[in-house]
Amino acid sequence: MGVDIKDEYNLKVSYKVVDYTLPKIVYITIAPTAKVYVKVGDKVLKDQLLAEIKTKKYYSSISGTIIGFCKVKDHNNKNLPAIAIKNNFKEQSKKIKIDYNNVEQCDLKLSSKLKTLKDCTLIVNALEDEPYIANNILIIRDYCEKILKTLDKLANDFNLSKVVIIIGINDKDSINKLWNSIGRYPNITVNLIDSDYTNSCEIVLAKKVKKHYSNFKIISLYDVLKVYNYFINNTLVSQKYITISGRGVQKPKVINIKYGTPLIQAINDNIKIKKDLEYHFITNGLMKGKEVDLNLLCMNENIDGIIIQDIKSYLEKPCINCGLCAKFCPIGLDPKYLKENKKYSNKCIHCNLCSYICPSHIDFSKYLKKEAK
Ligand code: SF4
Ligand code: SF4
Repeated sequence: MGVDIKDEYNLKVSYKVVDYTLPKIVYITIAPTAKVYVKVGDKVLKDQLLAEIKTKKYYSSISGTIIGFCKVKDHNNKNLPAIAIKNNFKEQSKKIKIDYNNVEQCDLKLSSKLKTLKDCTLIVNALEDEPYIANNILIIRDYCEKILKTLDKLANDFNLSKVVIIIGINDKDSINKLWNSIGRYPNITVNLIDSDYTNSCEIVLAKKVKKHYSNFKIISLYDVLKVYNYFINNTLVSQKYITISGRGVQKPKVINIKYGTPLIQAINDNIKIKKDLEYHFITNGLMKGKEVDLNLLCMNENIDGIIIQDIKSYLEKPCINCGLCAKFCPIGLDPKYLKENKKYSNKCIHCNLCSYICPSHIDFSKYLKKEAK
């Protein structure tokens, strides 16, 4: 796959987030080995436990009736089982009380992050992960007060020495929004860094932050929203902002989508696709994303965006030893050496920058996978 992002790098999304949180049916994706606690005909509440594996629990994102079990696609285009629930549009929720001691029951990943926070500097990664994705800008615009209130709570509860929100230098809207409210929170500051691709990767960001802070932990803006929902709002997260953009889209938009919503419906109802070319659907961005079958793709927390794009195919040519791949690798690897020696480096963050930059259009992704060891 060839990617071509330079010409439209500065994505302009509509400033109004589209609300798409009332789907008729949701399909909650579960692991194939999950133990399922519901059967067809059961009535369920929003936030009710549906199934679990050792490391993850699956909750209903709506209230309604279980109508069946089926197969859907996840963000990596893998087939996975799903539980289909028909919405009764009442949003009846199961009352839950989540605190730091029991948060691992609903979010193991976040719980293990929170356990390491004591007495450190908390770095909040508010950078966009990929070109063409604009979720964080609109999260800051819509949830600025809630985010600051949540960070203030974390600062007090974990005795944090400081909270630093990292924003891309080009993200003027977020900078203005935060500056207007941050005065009330003396523990919280904003730091600006280049909006360059890969700076949002936790490993790359940690390398940059290390120069200024010795004891720090990084969490994402999405994690902060989760903390707000769990500990202040007493609810689980059942919806998320995602960006629909790309060359095939007439007006890129950020849509607030309920987990389990079929994405083809959300796109058909909200997005105009240009008719001139054959477009492909890529989850989460052009650099690291995966092409997916949109007909079976349902919303889950791992989806940040759908890029609708024509895909250029390039013929791989021999290496001309320009050295660009090593020069631009954010981790300091030599992708060409790894490819030639069939070596896998577990330091690789699979950002795909080496393939993007290579004038010979060498697709390193197939050489940098673990199987190439
Ligand atoms: S994908 Fe390429 S550029 Fe990115 S970390 Fe791995 S080797 Fe480096
Ligand atoms: S960027 Fe491509 S052409 Fe240049 S050294 Fe690396 S592999 Fe060779």
